[in-house]
Amino acid sequence: MGSLYLNRLNAGERDTLINKLHRSQKNKCFICEESIDLVLHKDSIDIDHVVPTKLGGKDDPSNYALTHSSCNRSKQAANLEVARILQRFTKLKEQTGKDNRNPNLNDVLMLYGGSKYELPFTCSSDSIECSLPELGKNEIVHIPLYTDDLSGFKYFFAKLPIEYLHHDEKINPRSIGQNISKLVEEFYRKRPQLHISLGYIAIEQYSRSLVRIFDGQHKAAAQVLLGIRELPVRVFVDPDVDILLTANTNAGTTLRQVAFDKSVQRHLGSALYIDRVERYKKDLNLGEEDFNFSEKDLVKFFKGESREMKRYILDAVRDSITHNSENKLKDYIDFGGRGKERPLSYSTVEKTFYSFFIYQDVLETAINYQLENGENPREMEKEQILELMNIIAEEIYIGKYDNDIGTNRIENRLQAGETLPLKHVRAFRMSKEEILWNWLKYVSQIIRNFFIMQGMPIEEKKLFQYKFPLPLWERIRVFVRNLNSLPLWSNTQLSTTVFGGKQNYEYWQHIFEKGKTPQGQQVLPEPINLMKMI
Ligand SMILES: [Zn+2]
Repeated sequence: MGSLYLNRLNAGERDTLINKLHRSQKNKCFICEESIDLVLHKDSIDIDHVVPTKLGGKDDPSNYALTHSSCNRSKQAANLEVARILQRFTKLKEQTGKDNRNPNLNDVLMLYGGSKYELPFTCSSDSIECSLPELGKNEIVHIPLYTDDLSGFKYFFAKLPIEYLHHDEKINPRSIGQNISKLVEEFYRKRPQLHISLGYIAIEQYSRSLVRIFDGQHKAAAQVLLGIRELPVRVFVDPDVDILLTANTNAGTTLRQVAFDKSVQRHLGSALYIDRVERYKKDLNLGEEDFNFSEKDLVKFFKGESREMKRYILDAVRDSITHNSENKLKDYIDFGGRGKERPLSYSTVEKTFYSFFIYQDVLETAINYQLENGENPREMEKEQILELMNIIAEEIYIGKYDNDIGTNRIENRLQAGETLPLKHVRAFRMSKEEILWNWLKYVSQIIRNFFIMQGMPIEEKKLFQYKFPLPLWERIRVFVRNLNSLPLWSNTQLSTTVFGGKQNYEYWQHIFEKGKTPQGQQVLPEPINLMKMI
């Protein structure tokens, strides 16, 4: 940074200034808020303007801050106050990253001491009375209640302390994206937008409820990060949560107001499934633990929306496989659909793994059928698909595919003579949808053949609902390993031909079955022979 003032200081004066800043910042770096040690960090300390001079900041000590040099070099905004806020968010991201997730509003609220209390209130037909006793604010506030003319829901507006606000993960399962940094900067520059979040309270036996925020997460989080302690909220009173859930799902699907990725839609679908199960049990007076009804019973019960009900059931199956904490393939799946790091897109996973291996119809066996002995058909299906994904992750991706090299222009780079790790190239090529689609078909065939050899009659559509014995798992693993070692995946000369562009499924089916392309180019030394490969 250029500073006339600092340039004029001699070494002694500069040390005095550093000491003074160090004390006033309580020995912490202005950006990362970790300790600065004046001895250990002696040659790696910067003095910088908090507000850059070109944005009107003064060039004098009132506008100076002390930072680690490395923090100053990698700061995410020119203004150091903004840089510090973004650094806090980055730290939060590192923390939640350990659980393989990104931060949501709940994490931000917790970081700033929010999300502590339920809101106490009483309610009449046209007003709501509340108080904030936990914060020592015992005054009783009367707030008018309005009716939303479209939905019929009652609501009120309030500016509520963050201690009383909570994130609703059920209606809004999304996390906060990197675009939060733009919002933080915009708000920091005092440019307001439609800040108001949507929330709701539920009236139950007693007059307290969490205020759950389900929309406007990013704007709420940006305000909290900027140190705002009270947020404006439109609070629905005892709304039909199901309608809010549907509204939020539609915002991301039919209305395309929010860029939902597909896996989030699935997650919402599964929340709706859980909801319907609860409603079914309540309406039929079933006990908490009573799952003695089938998927088919649910579809029948919710007649008016049987098609949706079926979708919710399948969404829940997909969702629990995708987000299972033991899913090793997950790290290689791109959920946004536009990334250039990960080899598999979520949509490819749906079109292959999920469409081949999940039974696409509803089951007539009870949801708890054979659950105790570990042979519940849906559970077994989920576990075994997960197991297959893990085998594939271990054989093809882990320690082999490198997210830092990514997927961007791989074939072009090979054509240009660039040397890339061949393990990476193999994994990349085997992940292409039209290729994966074909070789996963062989996996089904191996499984079917195995059962046929055992003389076991099976229903092909329910393949993964039959228990796979150990020898079958070994065959599958050997097949994946042998397939992965075929020379074509690392043959760089093929980058101009068979791997040069996107081909269709039939093209690769032809290669696997005949060893050559439909145009006659030899790609494999011989057609795929399953007996040899297992
Ligand atoms: Zn620092």
